Amino acid sequence: MSDSTPLQSGRADNVAPTSQLSGILRRVSGFGDILQRSMGGGDHPLFIQIERIDGPVNAVISGRPTTLFGTNSYLGLNFDPRCIASAEEALRTWGTGSTASRLASGNQIGHANLEQAVADFYQRPDAIVFSTGFMANLGAICGLAGEGDLILYDAFCHASIIDACRTSGATFKPFRHNDAADLDRILGESTFPASRTLVVLEGLYSVWGDVGFVKDIATVAKRHGALVLVDEAHGLGLYGANGRGVTEAQGAEHLVDAIVGTFSKSVGVIGGYCVTVHPALKSLRFLARSYLYTASLPPAVVASARTAIGIIQSEPELREDLWRKAERFCRGASALGYSLRADPGPVGALHMKGLYQGFEFWRELLSRGIYVNLLVPPATPNGEVLLRFSVSAAHQDSDIDLFLSVLRDMAPKAAIA
Ligand code: PMP
Repeated sequence: MSDSTPLQSGRADNVAPTSQLSGILRRVSGFGDILQRSMGGGDHPLFIQIERIDGPVNAVISGRPTTLFGTNSYLGLNFDPRCIASAEEALRTWGTGSTASRLASGNQIGHANLEQAVADFYQRPDAIVFSTGFMANLGAICGLAGEGDLILYDAFCHASIIDACRTSGATFKPFRHNDAADLDRILGESTFPASRTLVVLEGLYSVWGDVGFVKDIATVAKRHGALVLVDEAHGLGLYGANGRGVTEAQGAEHLVDAIVGTFSKSVGVIGGYCVTVHPALKSLRFLARSYLYTASLPPAVVASARTAIGIIQSEPELREDLWRKAERFCRGASALGYSLRADPGPVGALHMKGLYQGFEFWRELLSRGIYVNLLVPPATPNGEVLLRFSVSAAHQDSDIDLFLSVLRDMAPKAAIA
């Protein structure tokens, strides 16, 4: 491609060799060198460009029609005509952007209506909307915990939670993934008062696709008197009778002090939120710097998110359809001998034997018109190489059967058959 960057093309003509650099530039450039070396020829998971998009799960990549099994569009709502119509209407009426933060001139009636819709959805008194899910974790965690407090987080938590812990000024420490007994031990030995301790976990962990043991962990945290925050980024719209997430599905909502989520996955746009039963939430608007010091969401995004939440709430059949398709795929892949890292669900990971094999496998899938995510260390637990897939309600059964038939052909290469 003539317009590719040096990194994408593997050319480094206008980049000074690392050996001529020092200090910060040497360290940063060294990272780029490693990426270049790892690319070899052909497509690279970090530099895939979608050339055309034909709906929630169809695209053209490297000139080929491709079925997407690596998005977070679990319900296909990013192409729902009702969401698009709301966005179009808001775009025409309110313009392209708010151009300011909520506390300046970026506080529009649409933002307040969206917050009310999120609060009503969770049956909580209030909600606060952020510009991304990352910022929601940053704002909620740093707003709640600070110097003199302790944050205990599940070892598999997302980078936004870890960065929030680092930024908060609180002491922070992981407990073993989904291990309520480990949390119990740490809380029992802690010198911090339980009332100054915040426990953070996720509803659905998207690397393996395993659900968080929200009820067990929140029960332990509550027994000690700690606060609990659950990130339902991936659980929203997928789990629970009303689609509120894994916390709802496990009957644990009464044990949880705050829920954070994102609009960038099942809701199909961008943005984040935090809901809690505590009136203290109102103060987050003044304490959460990622809320205070950034522009509010564009009106079209706000309108579309509100419509999508209404659909998630009122159309459980979308969720049922998603689960039927997810189970069809997971059952099929297991029957072919592939090792899934978790119980069947809309997001999961196929275990690959090694880095080289994972890379080759990912490339061949792409060459056959199937896009998934390749996850490699250090982004994975236990140094695993994983092919992360996600299923969408927007997939046709024929898409799933196509993916399975490609996996059948490739099973010998995965060294599993
Ligand atoms: N939390 C979790 C668990 C996530 O997986 C993600 C996104 N991958 C985020 C937060 C951040 O969400 P956003 O993309 O809206 O910033």
